[in-house]
Amino acid sequence: MVNASSDYLGRLAPSPTGLMHLGHARTFWMAQERARAAGGKLLLRNDDLDTARCRPEFVEAMREDLRWFGLSWVEPIIAQSARIPLYREALAQLHAGGFIYPCHRSRRDVLAAASAPHDGDENNEPVFPASFRPPVDASLPALTNPITCNWRFRVPDGETLQFIDGHFGEQQAVAGRDFGDFLVWRKDDAPSYQLACVVDDAAMGITEVVRGADLLKSTFRQLLLSRALKLTAPAFYHCPLVTDENGVRLAKRHDALSLRALREHRRTPNEIRASW
Ligand code: GLU
Repeated sequence: MVNASSDYLGRLAPSPTGLMHLGHARTFWMAQERARAAGGKLLLRNDDLDTARCRPEFVEAMREDLRWFGLSWVEPIIAQSARIPLYREALAQLHAGGFIYPCHRSRRDVLAAASAPHDGDENNEPVFPASFRPPVDASLPALTNPITCNWRFRVPDGETLQFIDGHFGEQQAVAGRDFGDFLVWRKDDAPSYQLACVVDDAAMGITEVVRGADLLKSTFRQLLLSRALKLTAPAFYHCPLVTDENGVRLAKRHDALSLRALREHRRTPNEIRASW
């Protein structure tokens, strides 16, 4: 029975960098099922901050393909690109609290310092070496407008962070060991995914985040940001990733089965869900 007074609010947060594929469909379906079971609602957030990779035609395709699949959300769609002042305010707050510092190291410097090979995924980036940090007592330069260098969050080395994931159960990570200082703002004057996500989940009043397990580690970064910004963090439910018959993550395959292609091949959403 639906509880009409439920305060459950979830969100779907795709990035319009390509067509939606089966992996998105499965995670978003789970998000919808959880919202329904709780008698709550879902919002759709368009994570379009990566201007080099996001394209307007993918926003339209995303809306159409997700609807075709049977997903619904409360309109309007919320575009992150329209919310920059909100992220900038959060950045100023982090700056005032001394949680961040300007970083002049390149991605290449960090990769060269990393011991293990690395797949280039922001969420599983190599640990940023503590030796690259400025000293804690170094004076903090002011934030410029526009921002022309990277700003990183200084993680509390050695602190064990934990949360209970709705699907995977208790999760733990040690700051500075399992993940290091991470970007909050980029030198091309754009907020990082981590910062925008935390600010939005709080501002939108999201009670539970349902998303792919590739973001499990990012949750620890986001919990640190929530704490620094004195925000209430949502609950988290991470979904196992969809892989193909060779164990390759769909999102990493160039020919990932897009919902659009499945639809063109006359597959129906019911049929697709029945195969899960
Ligand atoms: N836009 C992010 C992505 O597509 C997901 C954000 C999230 O669910 O927190 O990977």
